[in-house]
Amino acid sequence: MGTSGVVVRSCSVVRLPVEGPGSVLPDQDLHLADGRIAAVVPTGSRPVDPDARVVEAAGLVAMPGLTNAHSHMPMVLMRGAAEDVGIEEWFNDLIWPMEMNLTPDRVHAGARLACAEMLLGGITAVADHYFLTDRIAEAVVELGIRANLAPTYFSSQGRAARQAAVAAALAVRDAGSPLLTASLGPHATYTVDEADLRWFADAAVAEGLPIHIHAAETIEQTRASQDRLGVTPIEVLARTGVLAAGALIAHGTGIVASDLPLLAEYRDRVGVASCPKGYFKVAMETMTPVRSLLEHGIRVGVGTDGAASGNTLDVLEQTRLLALSQKQQERDPRFLTTADALRLATRGGAALVPFGTSGTLDEGSAADVVLVDLGGPHCQPVHDPLAALLYSARASDVRTVIVNGEVVVDERRLVRADLAEIVDRAAAVAPELLARRPGEAVQHYAP
Ligand SMILES: [Zn+2]
Repeated sequence: MGTSGVVVRSCSVVRLPVEGPGSVLPDQDLHLADGRIAAVVPTGSRPVDPDARVVEAAGLVAMPGLTNAHSHMPMVLMRGAAEDVGIEEWFNDLIWPMEMNLTPDRVHAGARLACAEMLLGGITAVADHYFLTDRIAEAVVELGIRANLAPTYFSSQGRAARQAAVAAALAVRDAGSPLLTASLGPHATYTVDEADLRWFADAAVAEGLPIHIHAAETIEQTRASQDRLGVTPIEVLARTGVLAAGALIAHGTGIVASDLPLLAEYRDRVGVASCPKGYFKVAMETMTPVRSLLEHGIRVGVGTDGAASGNTLDVLEQTRLLALSQKQQERDPRFLTTADALRLATRGGAALVPFGTSGTLDEGSAADVVLVDLGGPHCQPVHDPLAALLYSARASDVRTVIVNGEVVVDERRLVRADLAEIVDRAAAVAPELLARRPGEAVQHYAP
């Protein structure tokens, strides 16, 4: 993996430093070798290896690969199958009954469609939380995206399933692909009991794996936890050792002020993925408190969640909604600038789990590069490329995607797989997944 010798010639390069304004350097060549960015230099100023593949990128903007900080890839098969309902109905009447029908082949078909959609939209790394991760890993390696996979565990599956979930994570980690890393995936603070959370925290430390978990998804969950246990979901994560073990927390729209010092104590290993599209759809009362989290030094990334809630695995779209919703929530148009929002969508997500990428286009960074064509009428004229990327560009404006130094999307086409075949197979297996039987579900939502 990581073919040596790709030169991306004559592009504009997006720079998003750790903080502060971003910049775009015109007329640059990116020299990629051994899966890394060897040099970013003015066009023509460094000789091109005669064996190198040259990607002509005049007029294109090179941005770091987008990171999808929270997803459930195979749920693309349920896209649009659970609309106009609240969270309880979404889980109890639709999604969890449908998940009784998961099979290895259906999960594989869904994961391939998800990887295709993400790569074509400029996503080069995804933190995924789902069942049957061995089949998801197959799709990841086939299509060439980076993924951190967390095998989902519910306490209702019973104790034996804990060990199986850890074994599944280790199998992903040890599969020998530079694209694959793993996390442990206890589902949520309301579906995994505290004894199991402690067990997973210990296992995470013992195996050197982080934890990916849903917590404080809504403010109602936080209130329910306070009523039931006297503490917030984040306090549950703290007292069971999950924060200390290192955790990617999905959603966190119910994170309250008293949670912030707890999260900040572990800021070197804890972060939050926000996926706002779904929050709008189920009419949530609150959004992820991004400003407070960032002010406490807690890392934030942008996710898509599964397509059963968000409909697309489109990080540009989610980032746009994040910026818009945060500005509105904070009543502050200056909060979350274009550079800030794009930073969360790239290096923000990359910092949440060990993907093997930094989400930057610096010399020495992993060679995960996205070339975007801002020539469409919805982007022109381009006075500010960062504004065009955040507020105008569409996933379909992505022209070329390079992951680990290898071109995996070329001229808007997948290089390693046939999109039509992937779409056909997904369409063929999806109806079987949607069949529901009365009284049967993988879980019951009762926060
Ligand atoms: Zn989720």
